[in-house]
Amino acid sequence: MTMQSYYQNYINGQFVDGGAGRLEVDDPSDGSIIAEVALADKADIDKAVQAAKSCHQEGSFAGLRPVIRGRMVRAMGEYLLEHCAEISELLSRESGKPYWEAVIEIEGAARYFEYYGNQAETVEGRSIPLGSSYYDFTTYEPIGVSGQIIPWNYPVEMTARGIAAALATGNACVVKTPELDPLAATYLAKAGEAAGLPKGALNILCGMGAEAGSALSSHPDVNQIVFTGSVETGIRVATAAAQNVVPCVLELGGKSAAIVMPDADLNNVIDSVRWGIFFNAGQVCSAMSRMIVHRDVHDEMISRLEGLATSLSVGPGIERREFGANMGAMVSEKQRDRAIGLIQGAVSEGARLITGGHKLNRPGWFLEPTILDGVTTDMTIATEEVFGPVLSVLTANDEKEAVEIANSTPYGLVNGIFTSDIDAANRAARDLRSGQVFINEWFAGGVETPFGGYGKSGYGREKGREALWNYLQTKNIATRIG
Ligand code: NAD
Repeated sequence: MTMQSYYQNYINGQFVDGGAGRLEVDDPSDGSIIAEVALADKADIDKAVQAAKSCHQEGSFAGLRPVIRGRMVRAMGEYLLEHCAEISELLSRESGKPYWEAVIEIEGAARYFEYYGNQAETVEGRSIPLGSSYYDFTTYEPIGVSGQIIPWNYPVEMTARGIAAALATGNACVVKTPELDPLAATYLAKAGEAAGLPKGALNILCGMGAEAGSALSSHPDVNQIVFTGSVETGIRVATAAAQNVVPCVLELGGKSAAIVMPDADLNNVIDSVRWGIFFNAGQVCSAMSRMIVHRDVHDEMISRLEGLATSLSVGPGIERREFGANMGAMVSEKQRDRAIGLIQGAVSEGARLITGGHKLNRPGWFLEPTILDGVTTDMTIATEEVFGPVLSVLTANDEKEAVEIANSTPYGLVNGIFTSDIDAANRAARDLRSGQVFINEWFAGGVETPFGGYGKSGYGREKGREALWNYLQTKNIATRIG
């Protein structure tokens, strides 16, 4: 693959430089600089919002017959699949994730375009009977300009998740990509061009959160905001949007727990842990960052967890081409050192380090797969999101206590239970406070299933049919028959 040394922003159908200059992007596997990206300033964000607003008002996109829009959205996904190898290469280099995981991300992104492209012509209004003197009907219109602020953990897939639904429903988008790994998102602009999106329907800019992100979230001509990231920034974004009475969807991470009962299939549990906490080096909002294990299977589980964690090889993502028992670097030195700080804090509060906990003795932002046992609900690590390959194990005496522990954080994104008792599974599904509950498989579900949080995990739903309604206004038209 030939890498460009500089990647531009995409505004109103053109690739352009940034008013704030350029930013260097590093390779997390050795810290070397791989390319520069154009950095947007407030004025660039304004240009992009004005382009999106004009596109919306002219109706060149919103006014299309939905089947045509749907085909364009699907074509964006097809473009990603056609260029999957080169996009995955770039994504692996800038994010540190194994190449094979980058391929999964690009295929996942393409799937969003397929799913929402197919939904475009399913959004229909309805007629409401008001007696023989009236015709009344309700329609759904695109909300207008959707501002989307993207995190670094899945920079292409998270962007696809938001823009596929927004475009399928006829909105124009302004996307602020993450500073740490913004390069592969360039291909989404190319995908939009190849699919024939009109100018201004899709604008993609990298910029610093404090300048470009904040300009987008406070812009008076943005009609809706989707934010994925930390709680702290989410509160800032929602506060800025509230000044303009603009609705938000916030997806803010979690501290999700898997409950393991004595009658669980422990091989199956271990398969889920492999994906649940070590996929993307644990940098996943819905990661299985806690395990609440029943006392009767605690020792057996700890020994199997240690076996799993020590079986994973850790190293440069770009060298890991094929699916395997391996893990790449974390995205940045700051994120890696923050995770190590949380592990050390847990040990000083009384947790037992079973394996891992250290950086690798080589350049790059690597952290060993880590298992902590003896974690209790009063420890910082029991409630604070690590966002790394770190599993905290807590012990419960029975199902009721396990559910109470699972519910004892301010978050509520996902939770799960492993058991062969259908009543226990159904009780947990009823009592766990989270937007999704996994029974006997972590990450069960897909693009089709609604996803979002209770409590500090945020509000609104992404994925599934539910997400379409984030991007639509409801209008009722009532006619008196003369
Ligand atoms: P962040 O919330 O600061 O950044 C997410 C996005 O918000 C980035 O695009 C960033 O540029 C933008 N942003 C930053 N400040 C902004 C502002 N004032 N206004 C508007 N946009 C702004 O997250 P981070 O610093 O990259 O990571 C910190 C922590 O956030 C992580 O340790 C993790 O716990 C959490 N996180 C969660 C997710 C998730 O998927 N839920 C993703 C990334 C990070």
